[in-house]
Amino acid sequence: MIFRKIEYWIEGDYRNQIALNKAPLSWNKFFKKFSKHFIFFSFSFIISNLFLTYIIGTNEWWKIVSDNPLNHLGGFIAILIFTFVFYGVYARFREQICTTICPYGRLQGVMLDKKSINVAYDYIRGESRAHLKRGEDREAAGKGDCIDCHQCVHVCPTGIDIRNGVQMECINCTACIDECDSIMDKIGKPRGLIRYASEDGIQNKTGFIWTKKVIAYTIILVVLILSFTTLLVTRPDVETTILRTPGMLYQEHGNGRYSNLYNFKVVNKTRDTLPITFKITSHAGEIKLVGHIPEIVPNAISEGALFVILDQKDIHSIKTPITIGIYEGNALIDEVSTSFVGPAL
Ligand code: SF4
Ligand code: SF4
Repeated sequence: MIFRKIEYWIEGDYRNQIALNKAPLSWNKFFKKFSKHFIFFSFSFIISNLFLTYIIGTNEWWKIVSDNPLNHLGGFIAILIFTFVFYGVYARFREQICTTICPYGRLQGVMLDKKSINVAYDYIRGESRAHLKRGEDREAAGKGDCIDCHQCVHVCPTGIDIRNGVQMECINCTACIDECDSIMDKIGKPRGLIRYASEDGIQNKTGFIWTKKVIAYTIILVVLILSFTTLLVTRPDVETTILRTPGMLYQEHGNGRYSNLYNFKVVNKTRDTLPITFKITSHAGEIKLVGHIPEIVPNAISEGALFVILDQKDIHSIKTPITIGIYEGNALIDEVSTSFVGPAL
């Protein structure tokens, strides 16, 4: 979808590419080959960086690319290795990877049925194949639209003849579709002798049909996309857990005040350090942090402990439900429900 298109754009179709490869070295050949490989390498470099951000995250990746490479030698070498691997795959090995390493081709056979849409040759229309004879009425002679020119075989990077049916080696590059369409244009026949079609579609001469399976898969896919988008859009910036410290009961402060000790964890999913404060939102109590106010660092979990202090008049049972708000300035960014243990008088 990217590399072959670039190759066709710079070097022309497969005939031009063969001619260019056979041609002696010239400025034109050097310029085309250099441009192609330079673009291939640049794309490989971009893909390699994207791949690395997927594995180590954008923050770590940015440290590697924005700092002196010697300070991140491992990451820098990883980027180079990935770049050369992608470049090798796209510039040199290509379909050899598809047919010998990638498991998808092997799985393809068991996942297809007669309704599966694939790159396919319309044998009803194409057969019986025969070379083109000038002035001949092919229909009257019982001949199909395939003029047996073998161009679809010549352009196929994996060297298969799609007219023999769907094969494991087909990487769906569609080069045979483009080539056959150009032949059909030349002989004045409609395009699409090789096209995306299902076995049933070819046999029954029908186009794309919304079968029960297609409708079901479409609904599932739409539901998944909507759920994923909703989760992304409604994803909170901060996630807080506040739990009473295990093994601790309440402490008496005098003047009818009691306290409970809690452990808290704040997950900061933003890229900024958050200056947060805690307040009891359900009662008129007080919160005292153990130690200093924690720094809620970006993309990390911050932990600490705090005391919640309530007046006796607010404690109505052995476990009083309370809520604690987490504020950034005056803005409430999260709220947690927990319980307060105290003497219910
Ligand atoms: S390119 Fe088209 S016409 Fe030529 S052999 Fe292939 S299917 Fe037949
Ligand atoms: S789409 Fe056509 S050219 Fe491409 S691999 Fe499959 S049969 Fe060969």
